[in-house]
Amino acid sequence: MNVTVACEHNPAMDSEEGKRAYPEGLGVCLKEMLSEAGHCVTLVTMDENGAEGLTDDILAKTDVMFWWGHWYHQKVSDEIIGKVADRALRGMGMVFLHSAHDSKMFKKLLGSSCSLKWREDGEHERLWCVDPTHPVARGLGEFIDIPEEEMYGEPFDIPTPDELVYIGWFRGGEVLRGGCVFRRGAGKLFYFNPGHETYPTYKLPAVRQLLRQACDYVAPALPLKEKICCPHIEQFSVR
Ligand code: ZN
Repeated sequence: MNVTVACEHNPAMDSEEGKRAYPEGLGVCLKEMLSEAGHCVTLVTMDENGAEGLTDDILAKTDVMFWWGHWYHQKVSDEIIGKVADRALRGMGMVFLHSAHDSKMFKKLLGSSCSLKWREDGEHERLWCVDPTHPVARGLGEFIDIPEEEMYGEPFDIPTPDELVYIGWFRGGEVLRGGCVFRRGAGKLFYFNPGHETYPTYKLPAVRQLLRQACDYVAPALPLKEKICCPHIEQFSVR
């Protein structure tokens, strides 16, 4: 499967904490995690120039796209957002990580503000599985512990998820729908809240297994549709 990781590189990643968490870079960590599963992975770095490395050629080959962004959401052009959303609605799978909840891409596909409560305090998060039969949660037990994470809490302004797989609980008492599947058009997308850039969450074996299973779950089951439009609209439209 061809997987594209669209991952930001921001100044927090060059801080002491950022480098300690991911000396190789967060994007490279995600790329290696997915390459180990046998996927052909392309890493596109987003920065103050937006996502200009995300070319039409790369997009045209992508079966599943991972999206991690934080500082530069507004730098990603509406043209690229439109092209990626079009492919997602035609069946490409997407996995949105952590602060991607506030990306133009996520908000476009969900149609709400996607705002939430947050506190950057390196707190213990316990992700409770609320659907043990779900393929994303296979073999991962009742819960996953993340020693240090940024708190993300409810109210999370998202539509009711089509499938809720995990609820995150934080030491401060807050909870969040932190592992959710949404179906949009012919595609599926998965949102996963952990993954602040200064905590090494994506090094945890259980998180890596979960994200690889999420990648498989949102992958297109059929060849991508040529276009989103219903054929009957064309058939009956006035000529
Ligand atoms: Zn964060």
